[in-house]
Amino acid sequence: MKKITKKTVEEFYEMLAPCTVCPRACGVDRLNGELGNCNAGLDVEVSSYHQHFGEEPPLVGRHGSGTIFLAHCNLHCVFCQNYEISQLGMGRKVTIEELAEMMLVLQERGCHNINFVTPTPWVPQIVDALAVAQSKGLDLPIVYNCGGYESVNTLEMLESIVDIYMPDIKYADNKIAAKYSDVGDYWDVVRPALVEMHRQVGDLSVEDGIAKRGLLIRHLVLPNNNAGSGECFEFIRDNLSLTTVVNVMAQYYPTHRAGQYTDMNRRITTQEYRAAIEELTRLGLDSGFRQTIDTIFRSIVPEWTDDLKDTGDK
Ligand code: SF4
Repeated sequence: MKKITKKTVEEFYEMLAPCTVCPRACGVDRLNGELGNCNAGLDVEVSSYHQHFGEEPPLVGRHGSGTIFLAHCNLHCVFCQNYEISQLGMGRKVTIEELAEMMLVLQERGCHNINFVTPTPWVPQIVDALAVAQSKGLDLPIVYNCGGYESVNTLEMLESIVDIYMPDIKYADNKIAAKYSDVGDYWDVVRPALVEMHRQVGDLSVEDGIAKRGLLIRHLVLPNNNAGSGECFEFIRDNLSLTTVVNVMAQYYPTHRAGQYTDMNRRITTQEYRAAIEELTRLGLDSGFRQTIDTIFRSIVPEWTDDLKDTGDK
């Protein structure tokens, strides 16, 4: 992480009024109490922070990923597994000093990185807290764990501050994104955002089993191919690299409001997950993770155990 100066922090705060932190560009004055689409204000809100052992293996290592869950989100996915945090705003306001202290505590506990979950609405405050933590000895890789709906301008400002980008690629169709995440230009926005992330940090670089820098993309397979898995993978292959690490995730379940939609109100089938993996393999993008019943399905869909055994971990 580069040295974060006072001037850099000030430049980030300028994005809050009018707010252009993310592509929604609501234009509200968050410095003076106005709220935009994400409902994030000026004081940063944290839901929890802890050593997380459920993230991808290179982030977890032996001592866990130092995860900080932030409240509010600029997407409104009807199937969000963390909707109490992202959409109902479950969390508490903390000061910049407290946020910095959380990072230092996680470093003290041996975590291999600081992993901000849903950082997008809070980029200025995070950078402010990083400056404080940095002055007190924080030197872990910084993980930006987001939904992929990011402003390229904001990402450019984060160059050399973020070490590992971990975005989703959720959909390859704007209309589907509008229906299920309340955002009408997701596919238009996520593509240049991923290109910018990859330009900054390149492919995932792992030393002694621990991720140090790079891009790790998550893709959640949705029922009825609503995620457009093949198109997402094709974009990655053609515009990022053949060695981009992609975690193809199988754990979709119809939580929150997803049950109201007939084509989203069930888990995915083994065939749907296999089809996504086959497409990934056909395109030659096989540097990523595949999920097995051991990590995903054993507890929730025991009858799928045998079927999924052959998907294998990468
Ligand atoms: S961060 Fe929130 S308020 Fe700012 S532009 Fe995005 S959705 Fe709007």
